Formats: sequence, structure tokens, C-alpha cells
Amino acid sequence: LACASQGYDFFYLVQQWPGSYCDTTQGCCYPTTGKPASDFGIHGLWPNYDDGSYPSNCDSNNPFDLSQVSDLTSQMQVSWPSLACPSSDDTSFWTHEWDKHGTCSESVLDEHAYFQAALDLKAQANILQALENAGIQADGGLYSLTGIKNAIQDALGYEPWIECNKDASGQSQLYQIYLCVDYYGSSFIECPVFPNVGSCASNLEFPTF
Ligand code: 5GP
Ligand code: 5GP
Ligand code: 5GP
Repeated sequence: LACASQGYDFFYLVQQWPGSYCDTTQGCCYPTTGKPASDFGIHGLWPNYDDGSYPSNCDSNNPFDLSQVSDLTSQMQVSWPSLACPSSDDTSFWTHEWDKHGTCSESVLDEHAYFQAALDLKAQANILQALENAGIQADGGLYSLTGIKNAIQDALGYEPWIECNKDASGQSQLYQIYLCVDYYGSSFIECPVFPNVGSCASNLEFPTF
């Protein structure tokens, strides 16, 4: 260990709905590998403190190294695509997430373990299936915030936090879903604190993608 780390208490696993990233006035760009699946994608696995604050950019001596995750990149392209413009091969997004967030939990999860944990947790959560099982589909329709939250809570056993944004016409929509994960990055937990992000209307659009 190079130096004393700042520590953290738990993680947020943050997943984004691509349709809600893309239908804003800002728009999006598909990665060079093509249009991502019509599924939630990983945004990040973010170390956080119980008081709501969080560490960031913890170790500039340990930058993202693609070679350490070469066995995971095909899975990462499917589950962790970048929709930012200009189009990229996703590595700039993974680099940003490792450098800003992953380095803050490097004493517990090295780079390979960090990306493996995020992939495993996303698969375990299977949010799109949980919503579909409750009749909540990415069909451009409106769904209640409580209905969305209950569907995930019933399937997973833990309360999620929903972040909303607005489509180009100003309609509030389902943008990101936050789930809390224990210190080891292995199991979902009840959130010690909910994030202070993007407020939602009581009825949300779930856009197509
Ligand atoms: P925004 O301003 O879009 O809400 O957040 C910008 C960035 O700040 C996020 O992409 C993330 O890197 C970081 N961030 C925002 N809120 C939180 C939080 O509650 N916990 C952590 N760990 N990072 C956050
Ligand atoms: P954060 O700082 O919030 O963890 O990550 C946001 C940063 O990642 C921004 O600089 C954004 O341009 C970049 N980024 C690249 N691809 C994506 C994407 O698909 N979604 C989001 N939210 N940010 C992305
Ligand atoms: P309550 O604690 O009564 O469920 O919610 C208190 C307030 O927080 C209400 O305005 C409710 O709409 C909002 N709220 C509850 N859950 C969420 C969520 O997951 N995301 C967002 N953005 N707001 C929420």
C-alpha cells in the first residue's frame, strides 16, 4: 500500500437507462462497437461514506490499465457501454470511472476485482427483468415512481434510489438506479444514506431504446 487511503463505508452501484441518456436535448453517441443492448448499463461502482460524502481520485499512481481487464472487456462492452459524445470504444468511460472512483477502494478491490464486482452485481440485480415482471416496460409510457421502486424492492429485497432527468420536451423520466453494496463489493445492502440527486415527478416516462 503506497499510502494511507481515505477509506469508505459502502458502494453505490449506479446503472443508467440508455434511452434516457439519449433522448435529452444533449443527445448521445453510440460506441464504436455499435448500438448497446436495450438494457440498463453500468455507470459506476462508487465508494461512499455513510454521511453522504464520498472520496474521489484517490491514487494518481494507479491509473486505469486495460491489460488488467482484458478477459472482461467483451462483457464490459455489453454491460458498461459509453453513450457520451464523441463516439468512443468505451475505454475512456472505464478509465474515468476507475481513476475517479475505483482508486478509492483499491485496497479492497484491485482493478480486476473492481470491474468483476460491478459486472457480477449488475447481473445479480437484473433490474430490467424485475421491472418487466411488474409490467413496467421501456415503451415510452408513464409509470409511477413508487411502482418502479416497489418492483425493484420486491425482486431484490432492498430499496433502490431513482434519479430522474428530462427528455427534450421536459418530461421527467427514469434515468439512473442506485443500489447499495457492502464494503467488499459482494452483496446488496439497505442504503445507509440515499444520494442527493435528480428529483423525480410522481409519474415517470420509461423511454424506448
Ligand atoms: P452529478 O453532478 O451528475 O450528479 O454527478 C457528477 C459525478 O459526481 C457523478 O458522475 C459521480 O462521479 C459523482 N457523484 C455524484 N453524486 C455522488 C454520490 O452520491 N456518491 C459518489 N460516490 N459519487 C457521486
Ligand atoms: P461521473 O463523473 O459522473 O462518474 O461520470 C461522468 C463522466 O463520464 C462524464 O465526464 C461523462 O462524459 C463520461 N461518460 C462517458 N460515457 C458516459 C455514459 O454513458 N454515461 C455517463 N453518465 N457519463 C459518461
Ligand atoms: P417518502 O420518504 O415519503 O417516500 O418520499 C419523500 C420524498 O422523496 C417525496 O418527494 C418522494 O417523491 C421522494 N422520493 C422517494 N423516493 C425517491 C427516489 O427513489 N428518487 C427520488 N428522486 N425521489 C424520491
